[in-house]
Amino acid sequence: MPIATVNPATGETLQTFDAMTSAEIEQRLAAAEAAFRDYRETGFAERARLLDRAAELLDDDLDHIARTVTTEMGKPLAAARAEAAKCAKAMRWYAENAEELLADELPSEADVKDSGASAARVVYRPLGVVLAVMPWNFPLWQVVRFAAPALMAGNVGLLKHASNVPRTALYLEELFDRAGFPHGCFQTLLIGSSEVEAVLRDPRVAAATLTGSEPAGRAVARTAGDEVKKTVLELGGSDPFLVMPSADLPRAAAVAVTARTQNNGQSCIAAKRFIVHGDVYDEFAARFTEGMAALTVGDPMAESTDVGPLSTERGRADLEELVDDAVRAGARTLCGGRRPQGRSAGWFYEPTVLAEVTEDMRIHREEAFGPVATLYRVAGLDEAIAIANDSPFGLSSNVWTRDQAEQRRFLKDLQAGGVYFNGMTASHPALPFGGVKRSGYGRELSGHGIREFCNATTAWYG
Ligand code: NDP
Repeated sequence: MPIATVNPATGETLQTFDAMTSAEIEQRLAAAEAAFRDYRETGFAERARLLDRAAELLDDDLDHIARTVTTEMGKPLAAARAEAAKCAKAMRWYAENAEELLADELPSEADVKDSGASAARVVYRPLGVVLAVMPWNFPLWQVVRFAAPALMAGNVGLLKHASNVPRTALYLEELFDRAGFPHGCFQTLLIGSSEVEAVLRDPRVAAATLTGSEPAGRAVARTAGDEVKKTVLELGGSDPFLVMPSADLPRAAAVAVTARTQNNGQSCIAAKRFIVHGDVYDEFAARFTEGMAALTVGDPMAESTDVGPLSTERGRADLEELVDDAVRAGARTLCGGRRPQGRSAGWFYEPTVLAEVTEDMRIHREEAFGPVATLYRVAGLDEAIAIANDSPFGLSSNVWTRDQAEQRRFLKDLQAGGVYFNGMTASHPALPFGGVKRSGYGRELSGHGIREFCNATTAWYG
């Protein structure tokens, strides 16, 4: 994939970028290593001051950077602004909380004595240079949710961003520089995915985090495994949205529309499979379809737009193939299922609801990365859980029920990194984020996230 800014609303290439040469990559690796040597000596107060400053600058730049994001990947402008604001909030959260999250851990006196020590504690030390391979769908947030905790822990970052968001990638490097982080603490590598392996194998790189597709995750994990380097992977998802008879149906249907179409449907934690109890299926399906069909698809810069284009031409082609495969195999299209009429330019696709989806359809197992929902009718709790878990993915899940016994059962049995009751999945700095099964491993955000790239060191005193 060329490194380029291509407007997905028009298909126009606005700017192309040369990939960095090996000499430039070497310069950045050396700068990262040198930066880590000094930066690890800084205290939490100094790191927090720098990160708070980055948050302030990001707030000031909100409109400018939101326009860049929308131009590069097509999300509605309001969503791009919200993403930037969320990044500033996460920076402030880690600036405020990192010291406490990484405070020394003290075992009980009895355990210390039992280990033969006069004293013992666990100390969290940074790992070093962390390579972040990031996707285009939340081109600010995916990076910041790695960078904020990593920098607070005393690590330094190298960003290999998706090839279609180079302006955003360069902005992020500049943001951390302007905030005053020492040179080399956060750098962008403008490189293609084929260069990632060599960077990851470099002895100066300690660990890697990747958010993206399963094949990309597998490639990075394979190299990291070979080098015995720590990785965190946040891969795809096909999150279930379960609706039981006690649900507040109008609310569930309204939230379902947002949960499916946020970010033009291109979110790993978007609800994708809507699994609905037979008693309320018809009403839910009608309300949900009505809501999906009423969305305004169009220019992402226009404030009235709900759903912009898909970010890449390939992404739309993949989505079309999934829908066509399902329809050929007998799925019923309740709305959408095609490109909007009268729009020749841009990679738009209508919000789509498919019913009568069966196991033999690709969309039952694969991630639909666009505004396409699948509906399933179930007879009860057991069947709902069985269908929800019948997916290679296990990122998050949404459950609509007011019945507490049902809530306990879903919490016990859903195979996912999150179970959100009567609401939609949304990340928050204080809550761990990540999945099980093919959705990846490790956690981002919260104390779990900041400790992923730390060396939990046992200090034992005889
Ligand atoms: P990719 O996984 O290909 O891209 C994500 C990042 O990984 C990019 O920086 C990409 O670089 C890099 N990358 C890709 N292949 C490799 C590799 N072999 N080794 C190292 N790095 C690699 O996602 P796509 O954009 O192609 O989207 C494909 C599908 O992935 C989507 O339809 C969706 O299902 C899933 N996805 C999930 C996301 C999530 O949030 N979990 C986000 C994005 C996609 P480059 O851009 O240069 O190829």
